Amino acid sequence: MSETYLIQNAKVISGGQQAQFSVLIEGDRIAAVGDDAEISASADVTRLDGTGCTLMPGMVDAHCHISFDQPNSNDELFFHRRPGLATMIASVNAQKLLRAGVTSFLDPDCIFDVGIDLRDAIEGGVVEGPRMATGGNVLITCVGGTAGHLLPAEGKLGYAVIVQTADEIVREIRKQIKGGCDWIKVHVTGLPVRRTKRHNPGEIQSWTLDELRLVCDTAHALGIPVVGHCRNSSSTRDAALAGFDLIFHSSYMEEDALEAVVDNKTPLAPSFTFLRNLIDYGDKINSDPGLRSIFMNEIEATSAMIRRAYDAGVPLMCGSETGFSITPYGDWHYREMGIYVEHLGLTPLEAIACGTEAGASIFGLEGQLGRIESGYIADLVLVAGDLEKDLNLLGDKSNIRAVFKGGKKVDTSRPLPKNWSIPGWRTGRFSSEVLTYELAHSY
Ligand SMILES: [Zn+2]
Repeated sequence: MSETYLIQNAKVISGGQQAQFSVLIEGDRIAAVGDDAEISASADVTRLDGTGCTLMPGMVDAHCHISFDQPNSNDELFFHRRPGLATMIASVNAQKLLRAGVTSFLDPDCIFDVGIDLRDAIEGGVVEGPRMATGGNVLITCVGGTAGHLLPAEGKLGYAVIVQTADEIVREIRKQIKGGCDWIKVHVTGLPVRRTKRHNPGEIQSWTLDELRLVCDTAHALGIPVVGHCRNSSSTRDAALAGFDLIFHSSYMEEDALEAVVDNKTPLAPSFTFLRNLIDYGDKINSDPGLRSIFMNEIEATSAMIRRAYDAGVPLMCGSETGFSITPYGDWHYREMGIYVEHLGLTPLEAIACGTEAGASIFGLEGQLGRIESGYIADLVLVAGDLEKDLNLLGDKSNIRAVFKGGKKVDTSRPLPKNWSIPGWRTGRFSSEVLTYELAHSY
């Protein structure tokens, strides 16, 4: 029989509100809240005293690359990974997410089929990890993504599969769905090797609107949603027009892109954390100083438009782009919420709603995931201190008092390995260090 829990005396944050009340967990659900929780609790319930703590729904990270294992370069990621080992390592990294308070995440694209294998292992109870939705390899045209000449003009490599014709697009999507993908991901923009003055800021669009429509029609016919990497304005516009279900980055949106996003109510997850980590802590990991001002401009220009989208009712999720040396597992998932407060002017409670319940639609669990209300899935994080006053409390893991996923309290008693040394696994460099929370805050 599963254990039941009564969490008392905590400030509870849910649905953009904050109040103190008791929460009863039975099975995988929140059975009751407030006086009902106290009355319904059985004598043998396990009581947790949340005095001085905040209780929030588990975080939903909308953008996390669980299979990458913090590479320092694309060379490392594309040429120095093995499927079996990558999956075993991902199963440990998934536990780091869970202990950091991430109870659900979307891995939009993975190397090999690691995402599908890990999701099934978590769902089957083989390994502990957050609720997971997964893509397969990202669809890229031969113009490329962000990896330039490392990607071939056809075939598969790393996280990518190159598709050129309508036939190839349809065949690949159906293959991925047959294989068990929850999402299809498209790299709608890429970095050309040679840029011209005609390119607006950001990357260039490497798919036509008709091709994007074909992607959506093919995937949607089989009930599978589509997410796009859109790091310029026209790609964001066309992805929204084509019917994408989620857009990452949406960088440098112009008026026509904003209009398309608002008309279609296309959820956005800008994933500023990766950029912001490089801006704030790049010196600690010896990254390229020239990138910092470029990224700051991208955050500022994009934030203004995303705020307008949010005000017009566009769903806004939090994605950390965890998985790289600059965004290691378990350390930075909370940060996007603070960036929304700083750059979008959201209140902390609004930002927490973005980082929790807004992500429910990733799983088709709207109305069941991301709130602390009777009947909701019992995904909860108990954090020492007042989160409404300071969201950064979530970054320091010593503040995390308890994590529940589906009503089960996560066992944090056994420490997880922080690093591993495997011959041939690490090579090349974006930077010389992994930007852990500890390193970032060591001066
Ligand atoms: Zn990404």
